[in-house]
Amino acid sequence: MSSPTPPVNSLTVDVAIIGGGIAGSSLSLVLRRAGLEVALIERERTFRDRIRGEAIHPWGTKEVHMMGLRPLLDEAGAISLPLWTRYRDAEASTPYAWTDDFPDSLGGISVNHLRLQQVLLQEARDEGVRVFWPASASPMKVQDGWDTTVSSTGGEKRLRARLLVGADGQRSATRTLIGGNVKRDPVHHHIGGMLVRGVDLPANSAHQAHHVAGFGLVYLQRDSLARAYYICPTEEAAELQGPSGTEAFIARVGALYPDGAFAQAEPAGPLGFFPNADLVSDRMAGRHAVLIGDAASANDPCQGHGLSLVFRDIRLLRDLVLDADIADVPERFASARKEYYAVLREHARWAAPLATETGEEIEALRAQIERAREADPSAGGFANLFATGPDGLHVDEAARAHFYGEDLPGATVFGYPQPAPERRTRPVEGPTNTSTMRAANE
Ligand SMILES: Cc1cc2nc3c(=O)[nH]c(=O)nc-3n(C[C@H](O)[C@H](O)[C@H](O)COP(=O)(O)OP(=O)(O)OC[C@H]3O[C@@H](n4cnc5c(N)ncnc54)[C@H](O)[C@@H]3O)c2cc1C
Repeated sequence: MSSPTPPVNSLTVDVAIIGGGIAGSSLSLVLRRAGLEVALIERERTFRDRIRGEAIHPWGTKEVHMMGLRPLLDEAGAISLPLWTRYRDAEASTPYAWTDDFPDSLGGISVNHLRLQQVLLQEARDEGVRVFWPASASPMKVQDGWDTTVSSTGGEKRLRARLLVGADGQRSATRTLIGGNVKRDPVHHHIGGMLVRGVDLPANSAHQAHHVAGFGLVYLQRDSLARAYYICPTEEAAELQGPSGTEAFIARVGALYPDGAFAQAEPAGPLGFFPNADLVSDRMAGRHAVLIGDAASANDPCQGHGLSLVFRDIRLLRDLVLDADIADVPERFASARKEYYAVLREHARWAAPLATETGEEIEALRAQIERAREADPSAGGFANLFATGPDGLHVDEAARAHFYGEDLPGATVFGYPQPAPERRTRPVEGPTNTSTMRAANE
């Protein structure tokens, strides 16, 4: 039985993408450049700072280059990060150059999320993607694809597509449509983020500064802006969410860096706190439909792999769409995506206690890990994750034990990662003022 004929005010495309975030708009460009007819639907007229990813690890930079997207990141004001600098007691160590261990590394990238979203959407329009922005979408399954009613100020249009892509973020309606459910992994700690103006640190490095129970991260951007993060136990995150939260946040992050680095710093966006845990979807694909980026499952934001994962998803999907029968794409996409995402999820669980826990037991584990890294600096490849990405790595009990040095002679098995302990304090779901609440809950 063939599908009914599309109505008059209709458009037939190869792929319809719901969500014009970095995932959706980048995918639309990459598919369009490969010769496909693509439609992209974004609901927000103007973008606001939701405290999302702006620093891309070296493996993600490589994906960006492989997709030919680097010039657009540069147009959005990207800064290259060939270095990573660590601080203890507000003192910088010698910056680490990625190329010391990975000679081909392109280093990391820092780029303003909103600017990049704007540039990508505009470019998609210029290169012939059918962009509906702002518009709402109501997809309906038909025999060989999806019919999507798109409503915008220009009226209604019926889009027929052989493949529907949900790039609509953590709260994906496309995921619900294909019968998927999402679950958060146990929360271990929190990450707070804010855009700050006036930080005085070198722009060509990421800046990671340790405190007793966590760390700060700072990535410089253009126009005297910087994205600052503070990773800490959930109780401390709750303390930082009062009316004076933004000042307290700047003071606490600033104290981790050399004198003067934050002397002129002031808020340039909302403050928001987020749980460290992954948001895991039980489906990444349905019939003639796939999910990419955060919609498909979002990794622990403290790890900073989200955008790299987005670009990896795009490469996988592009290659499948070009190589395989489109009806087979969803299943093949989901099977490959599950594999590399599992590596990031599991590594984040292993790393969580090491980030914020204090006390004798975790110190003993850290010492054991240090010995393990002398024997195998790569930790079976997992220590290279930020440089080379998850491809080729497999998570199992042996990999976990090796990561923690439990396979060393005379090693101790500490039982990590442990599930998060029950906490008596109110869990942090979002900050207290309206702008930050919106940022944290979306
Ligand atoms: C605190 C924090 C820090 C992070 N730090 C980093 C980092 O340093 N590095 C990194 O790589 N990643 C980081 N991430 C993760 C990264 O931000 C995300 O993985 C990435 O933004 C996901 O992009 P996306 O396009 O899939 O989703 P989103 O950015 O959420 O985009 C989804 C888009 O879909 C649109 N949309 C939603 N529903 C509909 C609908 N029904 N119709 C039409 N449009 C719709 C939305 O308006 C939005 O534009 C961080 C995340 C958090 C929370």
